[in-house]
Amino acid sequence: MSDLPAEIDTFIAELDTAVEAHMNWTRRILRCAVLHATPGEDVLDPMAHTLCHFGAWFMENRAQFEALDAPAARRVETVHQTMHDAIRSLCAQVMNGATGHPVDLDSFEQSQSELISLLANFKTLILSRAVRCDPLTELPLRYGIENDFALYQKEARRNRTLLYVVMIDVDHFKPINDTYGHLVGDMVLRHIASTLKQGLRSDEPLYRYGGEEFLWLLKCKSAEEARKSARRILASVGTTPVPIDNDETLRLTITLGLALAGEMEDLSSVIKRADQALYEGKQSGRNRYVIAEP
Ligand code: GH3
Ligand code: MG
Ligand code: MG
Repeated sequence: MSDLPAEIDTFIAELDTAVEAHMNWTRRILRCAVLHATPGEDVLDPMAHTLCHFGAWFMENRAQFEALDAPAARRVETVHQTMHDAIRSLCAQVMNGATGHPVDLDSFEQSQSELISLLANFKTLILSRAVRCDPLTELPLRYGIENDFALYQKEARRNRTLLYVVMIDVDHFKPINDTYGHLVGDMVLRHIASTLKQGLRSDEPLYRYGGEEFLWLLKCKSAEEARKSARRILASVGTTPVPIDNDETLRLTITLGLALAGEMEDLSSVIKRADQALYEGKQSGRNRYVIAEP
């Protein structure tokens, strides 16, 4: 058993099965070419690309492929159809006692090889996304932060805007686990992650940094705007009760440590200052934000 979320495991298994079905289909074609045996009505049908197991499965799951890489998803559809068209033409020629046309054979070989390579790329993409995403909160894990930070820092330099690294830590989280158990703790974390995410702009990434800590890349035009955003996030968590069992709800708070990223400062140095600010926020009573000294 893998450590991947169940739906990813299932999707990968289905993708493997669909490719395997495609390979079995190719064996039928080879038999037609060598033995002049009919490949079956489904292969000769003008809509053959929608009748094969792979084609049907792909159309059912098209949205997922589109979300991962839309141009590649469209390409899969095109090359898959091209491959079926070439095979239909080849098989019809062979069944008529003629020799297959080399153009059709080339088209089949090229489209089949492109299809297999596109699907292998999708598999790699799905797996790499899965290991970068926290299955509990569905937030990205810390692996991508370096890259995103570098891009945002560059953008801030170019646009003369500000970039803050914000460390967020849930206040008094341990007692929730101790009182209600780890499963409720997990649910509470998921709920807080979703409240945080909803309160942020779509171009402000939020990561699960570790345990009950999150990291937020805050883009803004002034220190006042940063303070306003911090207050807004504190309020959104503080005023969104977390439902737990038996109609009971919990009210939680968070503490934020903000550090303004220097134009050329390393991420590790900014995080260290944000962490120090967070520590000060905890020491001075929690449910607040503290901005680190530059
Ligand atoms: P503080 O206000 O000082 O931050 O107090 P705290 O209780 O939140 O901090 P502390 O670091 O003492 O405890 C954090 C707890 O978070 C301990 C750990 O068991 C729990 N935790 C970390 N990750 C998870 C998780 O994925 N699920 C659950 N249920 N608990 C987690
Ligand atoms: Mg905490
Ligand atoms: Mg903590």
